[in-house]
Amino acid sequence: MAKEQDVRYLRLQFTDLLGVIKNVEVPISQLEKALDNRIMFDGSSIEGFVRIEESDMYLYPDLSTWLVFPWQSGGGSVARLICDIYLPDGSPFPGDPRGILKRALAHAERLGFTSMNVGSEPEFFLFKMDESGNATTEVNDQGGYFDLAPVDLGENCRREIVLVLESLGFEIEASHHEVAPGQHEIDFRYTSALQAADQIMTFKLVVKTVARQFGLHATFMPKPLYGVNGSGMHCHQSLFIGGSNAFYDEADELGLSQTARHYLAGILYHAKGFTAITNPIVNSYKRLVPGYEAPCYIAWSAKNRSPLVRVPAARGISTRLELRSPDAATNPYLAIACMLRAGLDGIEQKRTLPHPVNRNIYVMNEIERVRSGILSLPASLRDALDDLANDDVMRDALGEHAYRHFYEAKMIEWDMFRTTVHPWEREQYLSLY
Ligand code: GLN
Ligand code: MG
Ligand code: MG
Ligand code: MG
Repeated sequence: MAKEQDVRYLRLQFTDLLGVIKNVEVPISQLEKALDNRIMFDGSSIEGFVRIEESDMYLYPDLSTWLVFPWQSGGGSVARLICDIYLPDGSPFPGDPRGILKRALAHAERLGFTSMNVGSEPEFFLFKMDESGNATTEVNDQGGYFDLAPVDLGENCRREIVLVLESLGFEIEASHHEVAPGQHEIDFRYTSALQAADQIMTFKLVVKTVARQFGLHATFMPKPLYGVNGSGMHCHQSLFIGGSNAFYDEADELGLSQTARHYLAGILYHAKGFTAITNPIVNSYKRLVPGYEAPCYIAWSAKNRSPLVRVPAARGISTRLELRSPDAATNPYLAIACMLRAGLDGIEQKRTLPHPVNRNIYVMNEIERVRSGILSLPASLRDALDDLANDDVMRDALGEHAYRHFYEAKMIEWDMFRTTVHPWEREQYLSLY
């Protein structure tokens, strides 16, 4: 295939703990060495991996992820393979996010679930760039939800993104303007959990690369602009036993199986614990506030869209839950691993599902919420880290290595934010005091 498609370079891709895509590029002459799992890198230079004294890491390419990028470079094509990370002794590196998701999937399999399906809805903004090619926060259109704006740069760019994604094997189900000016969403078909995480990483790369070709900057930052909607990444999920959806029960009044109810109960039970993973940056918490279609209370509904978890109307093979809190700053491997383990814990512990909240929670006052037993998601990265630290199941899902490095890196991030003097503070206080 490399020969047929005139591939000159091979990118060996993986994702660091903080969700940033990394790659080692080798000339195609090294293909055989790569396929023999002999390409090495220095893990100590990668965020959240290891210390200097234990830094040799090996890349084991997953051949099912072979893909040739549609853009040329240096007179030939560039292909990529997504890799698992191994230690020199041939054992999987315990801090590899892709490995962590595989561990969670093995846990599901031990409980009898042969696969998990995930469908994600990443949202993003397209911003103009200045003359020196730096991103601005100036949007490129004034469109709104599902608007059919006169075809502008943003629309053309989104179309090109869709075409490129399709050429890479993505099945695009819909693409539309989102609620905020300059905000877009492209929905691709659900797939099995590991492939879904791989696809999210590829999706972000493609969106950013194509936007740049249009002179635009694409960002998945959760809340780039105050006063308008932020960007989320809703995650639809279901468990399968062979070809049948374990969440569906024809006989149930809601069409939901006991398994689905326990899974959902587990998601709600661990929602505080996994928020640091699904919403991992300081800015994530500027999105999780009332008024912008993002969740901030822990509740579920089959009717209303405002809660944390929604049960979409489709039943049968398409029965699924939609978790609405994650944002695209998350490391998708860790996020899916944690959501899965949360749900499985609900099944293992037979957790009871609280009553659905079919009212709009945002019109309830605090007393009504407390009376209905509705808790809130953590309000800051700091709170979320405390909740993660207190959740043994989520810590077990990550494993000690990833948990410790994640927690330390995020505490540093939080402390930098906490001690920085922000423009808002000067605007409010400089002349007043
Ligand atoms: N942008 C909203 C969020 O932050 C979602 C809006 C929607 O998809 N209906 O989650
Ligand atoms: Mg959507
Ligand atoms: Mg949306
Ligand atoms: Mg949705």
